[in-house]
Amino acid sequence: MKRETALRLGCIADDFTGATDIASLLARSGVAVGLRIGVPEASVDDSVAEIEVIALKCRNEPVERAVAQARSAADWLREAGAEQLYWKYCSTFDSTAEGNIGPVAEALADALAARRVVYCPAFPENGRTSYFGNLFVNGVRLDESPMKDHPLTPMRDADLTRLLAPQVSGGVGLLDIAALRGGKAAVSACLAKLDERGIRHVVADAIAEEDLRELAEAVWQDALLTGGSAFAAELPRHRFPGQREDHDEREQMPTVAGGTLVLSGSCSAMTRRQVETYRQRGSAYRLDPLALAEGDGERRKLLEWLDAQPRDAAPMIYASAEPGAVKRAQQHLGAERAGQLVESTLADIAAHAFENGVRRFIVAGGETAGAVTQALGVSRLRVGREIAAGVPWTFARRDGVDIALALKSGNFGDEAFFSKAQEVLR
Ligand code: ADP
Repeated sequence: MKRETALRLGCIADDFTGATDIASLLARSGVAVGLRIGVPEASVDDSVAEIEVIALKCRNEPVERAVAQARSAADWLREAGAEQLYWKYCSTFDSTAEGNIGPVAEALADALAARRVVYCPAFPENGRTSYFGNLFVNGVRLDESPMKDHPLTPMRDADLTRLLAPQVSGGVGLLDIAALRGGKAAVSACLAKLDERGIRHVVADAIAEEDLRELAEAVWQDALLTGGSAFAAELPRHRFPGQREDHDEREQMPTVAGGTLVLSGSCSAMTRRQVETYRQRGSAYRLDPLALAEGDGERRKLLEWLDAQPRDAAPMIYASAEPGAVKRAQQHLGAERAGQLVESTLADIAAHAFENGVRRFIVAGGETAGAVTQALGVSRLRVGREIAAGVPWTFARRDGVDIALALKSGNFGDEAFFSKAQEVLR
């Protein structure tokens, strides 16, 4: 049963860094944003915010499991009062021919009886743009960008309509940049034409903020919208008119005492540069999935190394590797096992570090961040100041202790991110 709460907009993110990304961009509006790790076990209570984001770890799950998780998140959000749902996935459209972007969108659309589903992954502020259905990363086509070598979702095509088509039933249409730049009438005409043809799934271009604004003007009342965080950030001005954008709750950050640990499981080109930059500054340990697969020795060695680091060293443990090394590990172990070995080891390390007084965690990689956050056993995060576009500091409480988490999607931030994150917290 639907409750009377402050909640209007409910977001479901397919990974944890995506959840902190969208929460952070929505919070720029000044509207209160709640961020929950996994579908809350507790029933809806009065602490529900005007916007709630549920972080799932379902990007690389089997389709049925991802759909089931998203449905259950949608049920909770709708019961909590959400009038509209937003399905948030990566601005590089991370998915395979099976899913999970399309199947989840379709399941949510069915649950909401939504006639149309718009897909807009573009995030111009972070260099993700879509032009006539082709997705670019900093001006390079997606399939020629470093995303072509992603360990779990290698992107081998840049055409969003072609990427989405095998993931959904029915045709996929395009609201292209020419229509968007043609003004309200052109946008309505394009959407009406697609509707007449019975096309439910509509990919939308955007190469600048103004395109996202134009798109939002046309579709903000749809029961379901999907895409990256930048498109979502256009919704509060419609859903919560009169909100003061100068009011920023994110500035009120708690002081978190205790050690700092950097954990990196992302193999993206940007993360590798960040790892390299941070490595030159001090304590770093490289994790190799092949060594981990040989037995418990490597894990023990690693924990001994970590325990021997000075308290203020802010050490880094990273599995981030070049595409060649990732491929070798995957050939020996299989992609899934290689990924799981790295994720579970980094998660164990985080839990061990927490026991030993580490309270600030900087984590690179969406899947990695999911594994680490789950291991730390936190269920709610508060969004703090942004370190880079789409990467805020977030805060949680566990056993009465404050924990600070910076969860960074592989591609975000610049070379100095790991050091910058620490400066922002000071
Ligand atoms: P991103 O945000 O860049 O997509 P993720 O953490 O989501 O990063 O995904 C990276 C995946 O690659 C994780 O499953 C991680 O465990 C795996 N991985 C990390 N290092 C290696 C490695 N050296 N060999 C094989 N897989 C790796």
